[in-house]
Amino acid sequence: DSGAAEGDFYHVKDLLDPDERAKLDRVRAFLVDRVAPGAGERWEAGETPLGLRDEIRDLDITGTWADDHHIAPRSYLLTGLIGMEMARVDASFATFFGVHAGLAMGSIRECGSEEQKERWLPPMVRWEKTGAFGLTEPLVGSGASLGLLTTARRDGDSWVLDGEKKWIGNATFADLVVIWARDVADDQVRGFVVEKGAPGFTARALEGKIALRGVQNAHIVLDGVRVPEANRLARADSFRDTARVLKVTRGGVAWSATGCAIGAYEAARAYALEREQFGRPIAGFQLVQDLLARMLANITACQGMVVRMAALHEQHRLDDAQAALAKMFCTTRMRETVAWAREVLGGNGILLEHGAARFFADAEALYSYEGTRDMNSLIVGRAITGHSAFV
Ligand code: FAD
Repeated sequence: DSGAAEGDFYHVKDLLDPDERAKLDRVRAFLVDRVAPGAGERWEAGETPLGLRDEIRDLDITGTWADDHHIAPRSYLLTGLIGMEMARVDASFATFFGVHAGLAMGSIRECGSEEQKERWLPPMVRWEKTGAFGLTEPLVGSGASLGLLTTARRDGDSWVLDGEKKWIGNATFADLVVIWARDVADDQVRGFVVEKGAPGFTARALEGKIALRGVQNAHIVLDGVRVPEANRLARADSFRDTARVLKVTRGGVAWSATGCAIGAYEAARAYALEREQFGRPIAGFQLVQDLLARMLANITACQGMVVRMAALHEQHRLDDAQAALAKMFCTTRMRETVAWAREVLGGNGILLEHGAARFFADAEALYSYEGTRDMNSLIVGRAITGHSAFV
């Protein structure tokens, strides 16, 4: 039985129906054959795997993020496990996919009119149009709910956007960027789909990242960018609507964090079985086994949590605090797990070629994006006490 070797000790994949299981197996084969081989090189070179878009389309999985009767029914367990499998191989790839399918398509799914969904989701499901999501700004990160500086001003049949966004994944090449801005008329946050080539829109790649180097992030400048009223997300009237998108994607990060931990654990286990010191495999030493057991315990605890989260979501019962708890817990357990994995590899733990190093570095970004550990903890704290500690 390979449950321990593959980081699926309690067999959570057995919860899928046979069709879903076949789909997940296809995704796994693609990840192993097509994503894993170049992941280290792409990370070093700072390259996003844009060339894989046609193959991702052919996997026929992106529709399950659309939650739309026109495209495909959504299975939260399957989407979660796909995200986990992606991050298990390459967290940059998982982020590239997640920004498009989770954040950008999710904004349109949660906040678009039926007409807007019809217009944008089908080409996004087919990866003919790639999406990005612009909320964070150079001066506004955790405090986005209160103080976005990017403004939207209504002018006849269109809107004029001015401001800057930072950290925006996929934005250097995206066809559609969802921009969140504060309406100067009433101070409410609204969402706008800015299409590639809009005059006044520029996106420059951020240099010098030490995590998730295999996916590009951009610094965006919006200088009087004009978008038609038809591109204003019809059902986004305040930050509460943005938060509906983030609830789902935070849950998604909990799944990817679990996957990132599994990837590091697998690298550590393989290395421990291979590497010999004192004339025997280091896997035979008690202290190494203890680290591996603790990694597997972290992974298994996270899986228990995210599987239950998916069930709550399926029943439309998942709330913000429950998603925040999973994001906070799974990223914390991941951060601990990847550090133990790096430790098992000794000096080789900091070399990209042995695998663990990439997961170790990437974990830092997963820990802080989509709401830092602190902010997610405070969302849970508010649910526990009724007091908001951050507003
Ligand atoms: P800050 O908000 O400045 O926080 C700094 C520190 O202060 C943190 O430790 C934080 O927890 C703490 N802090 C802040 N407020 C409080 C408080 N009230 N109480 C206690 N502690 C507090 N954003 C997008 O919009 N789109 C993207 O595609 C995107 N991709 C990203 C990809 C990567 C690799 C990274 C690193 C970030 C990405 N982000 C993206 C931005 C990300 O969501 C923010 O980095 C995150 O929300 C934190 O904001 P900040 O970095 O400005 O930190």
